Amino acid sequence: MISADAAPSETDAEQESELLTARRQLDRIADLVDVGSEYVERLKHPSQVHQVSIPVRLDDGSVELFEGYRAQHDDVRGPYKGGIRFHPDVSAEECTSLAMAMTWKCALIDLPFGGAKGGVAVDPRRLSTAEKRRLTRRFAEELRSFVGPTKDVPAPDIGTDAQTMAWFMDVYSMQVDEHSPGVVTGKPTNVGGIPGREEAPGRSTAVIAREALEYYGQSLEDATVAVQGFGSVGANAARLLDEWGASVVAVSDVEGGLYDPDGLDVPALAQEDGVLPTATADGEGRRISNEALLELDVDVLVPAAVGDVLTDRNAGAVDADLIVEGANGPTTAAAAEIFAENELPVIPDILANAGGVTASYFEWLQNTNGRSWDLDRVRTELDERMLSAWNAVRSTREREEIAWRDAAYAVALSRVAERHETVGIWP
Ligand code: NAD
Repeated sequence: MISADAAPSETDAEQESELLTARRQLDRIADLVDVGSEYVERLKHPSQVHQVSIPVRLDDGSVELFEGYRAQHDDVRGPYKGGIRFHPDVSAEECTSLAMAMTWKCALIDLPFGGAKGGVAVDPRRLSTAEKRRLTRRFAEELRSFVGPTKDVPAPDIGTDAQTMAWFMDVYSMQVDEHSPGVVTGKPTNVGGIPGREEAPGRSTAVIAREALEYYGQSLEDATVAVQGFGSVGANAARLLDEWGASVVAVSDVEGGLYDPDGLDVPALAQEDGVLPTATADGEGRRISNEALLELDVDVLVPAAVGDVLTDRNAGAVDADLIVEGANGPTTAAAAEIFAENELPVIPDILANAGGVTASYFEWLQNTNGRSWDLDRVRTELDERMLSAWNAVRSTREREEIAWRDAAYAVALSRVAERHETVGIWP
């Protein structure tokens, strides 16, 4: 029996803000964990949110002003850690709720980091490479006193990439007058990045899907899998599950999907920037919509594209036996309630896709102590970390008889709370 994930009374149409949801969730989990109310109250708020103005000279000579943010939620376990995104919807509130999620994710994997998130409200697709470089460099300069290898370590996120991190690192290193590769992670490998960082969130999603299948008595070799999103997370998860013997019957990108009940030839679906071949002339399955993919009768559904795709409108029609969240926030609170009623287990994003920040940690270690990591070592230690987190969540779930998501948050909150209780409130 899978207990209810949340007690959301509202439908998706009446959905509250992400920050309110995150705070309500914290309150609920705090009832399961032995933690003083003063620490719970503290953890409902960020320690700091920095807002900066970023003037950028565009290629036509004009200057445009952009707003940038860095929300730092909690650093009791170590330096703040979290992505920087370039997206028109970036706001202080969005960064704050995402920073909070990073605190829980890092604690769940037992990484010595706290949680942060930042970004610039901009549509990067309308900027040239030179404009993006100027925007990134000026943003890095504005954030200079708030970040650093032992203070706050950004990484790529939506709309940013390894190149963005290389520019960021260069500015910071110049300003502090030291070689400082550890100020950001997700860099190109020739400037301190680590092999395997790109595949890591997809790899962790595949590892957790494998463990969850085994937990429910299903062998990977007999399992059918549908993966929504064929980008970094989805394509790597599909590739690995296929390699390990599962039958990947459906995959999709933003335009729609491909479906073959006998299993797709995943390696043949050569991917270019998350885009699937549009024609099925090479015999790879038949076209299927993203909506239909989510309702396929499969053993595992891996939503690995965008948030809020499983809602109160389609949750009742989901026919999978297990959901493993590759994307961040693919399940709305109302959908989670329906899945709980239908006893459909959902393995949460903060566990499944945590491979990204875990590989980032290895990169930060490499930058801090100067010893290079090879791909084998990254994969081996990543798998070990994921298994250890999986075991902690599994035993908490069994002991407390709660849902997977609640168990993951309970493990994370107990680790953060323990540190807070030890150091106390100053003065
Ligand atoms: P990506 O841009 O590489 O790929 C996204 C894929 O989803 C593409 O195939 C795209 O065509 C498809 N897609 C986009 N919009 C869609 C829609 N509305 N319906 C169906 N498909 C759609 O992105 P990614 O890095 O793989 O990230 C995917 C998700 O995983 C996001 O939620 C992201 O926050 C999360 N995530 C990413 C990382 C990482 O390091 N890449 C780490 C943890 C979590």
